[in-house]
Amino acid sequence: MNSGGKGIPPRIVTIVSFCIGFLLLFPSLSTANTRAERQRYQHSIVDYRSRLNPRFQKVKRQKTKYIIVHTTELGLRTSLRVVSKGKRLRNGRRTNGGHTHYVIARNGRTYRILDKKYVADHAGRSMWNAERNISNISIGIELVGYHYAPITPKQYRAVGILIDILQGVYGLNDRAVLTHSQVAYGLPNRWFRKNHRGRKRCAKNFIRANAGLGPTWHYDPDVRSGRLTADAQLSAVFYGRRQIYTPPDEANVISKRNTAWAIAGEDYNSVATVYKFPNGRLYTGDQIAEKVGWSRIPPKTVVLLGQENNVELLKVDSAVKIITGGITAWSHAGKAYNRKTTIYFLPSGRIMPGSKIRDWDDLPAKTRMIIGYKGPYGLSKDQTAFRIAGFRYKDPKTIYYLPSKKLVSGNQIKDFSRLPTGTFVFIPAKI
Ligand SMILES: [Zn+2]
Repeated sequence: MNSGGKGIPPRIVTIVSFCIGFLLLFPSLSTANTRAERQRYQHSIVDYRSRLNPRFQKVKRQKTKYIIVHTTELGLRTSLRVVSKGKRLRNGRRTNGGHTHYVIARNGRTYRILDKKYVADHAGRSMWNAERNISNISIGIELVGYHYAPITPKQYRAVGILIDILQGVYGLNDRAVLTHSQVAYGLPNRWFRKNHRGRKRCAKNFIRANAGLGPTWHYDPDVRSGRLTADAQLSAVFYGRRQIYTPPDEANVISKRNTAWAIAGEDYNSVATVYKFPNGRLYTGDQIAEKVGWSRIPPKTVVLLGQENNVELLKVDSAVKIITGGITAWSHAGKAYNRKTTIYFLPSGRIMPGSKIRDWDDLPAKTRMIIGYKGPYGLSKDQTAFRIAGFRYKDPKTIYYLPSKKLVSGNQIKDFSRLPTGTFVFIPAKI
């Protein structure tokens, strides 16, 4: 419906009517999801509408032409809060929320934020096929997670069914499903002299086929017509000969090709974007120009998005890291978040290696973690700290987990003979 005006050749009409006939004979093949599956999914949606900021103004949408997929670049709790209540803007003001219709957690659980008949403020400065303000003519779906980390199979399953249902409601084909990074555009900046794509990287890791989606645009209509300048990386991802996906473990790491712009888009100089240099120093996006210089960010610098108010916590140079609202396991450990050498201490007292954790969204706040460790080794009369850790038993990197759930470093312990039974020792794993 978006390709515009040409008549449909008769042969295609024949094929289409054949297909419809075929589908009438085999209704279960008409879509990948059966009616029962769609119903079950619809009943499972968590109604979050009552949490919407009361100042959000509900306006009915006149037309629905697109479904726009996003990644939140935040953990679940912060995502739900931001899309419902609003976010802080650069000028210090806050938005009124209503930033999406749906949020899908990593475990596939779907939240309804705003009734789909209203306009959600989700796409910002955007354009597709010469039409602007895509929020006014689209549904927004937010996938919890990062554009540089994989979307989970359960999210693909959920978003696939949700899109299927919405396509039925609004009569949309697969070409109507786009990502935010495809439709957002930015004003001229230090990288572009004209209006351009690349303002957002949102959902650039969305693999359409995994959501059961078929054919799509093989070009960007606004770039082709000269309305916008292309962003090289995004064009390669969306319209390249072969779709390329940046390996997730490198995708938020600075290299010659992967610049601050390629990773963060318009948030490159935001106070909420944190640059973690290989030497351990941290800078926020707004500090780089003055303190470092955009062309002097060292390779292997890790870029963390959505870290508003978290810099001080990230700066704490301790072996024990804490998961709080905006700081996720990924913020601390990057690609090592789910390894068996990344060890989590849940508030309940449970100790779990990253390799055993299934539901990352349900990891409780105040969970502590250590990265690159072996253990637990239980202390006992015969199994002394020295036996376990050798001469490094007093080292700041050797971690002791006391029965009181306290985590202390070897250098903080005065009298090792008084460590209670039930203490566990963790020692750095050789890498
Ligand atoms: Zn987005």
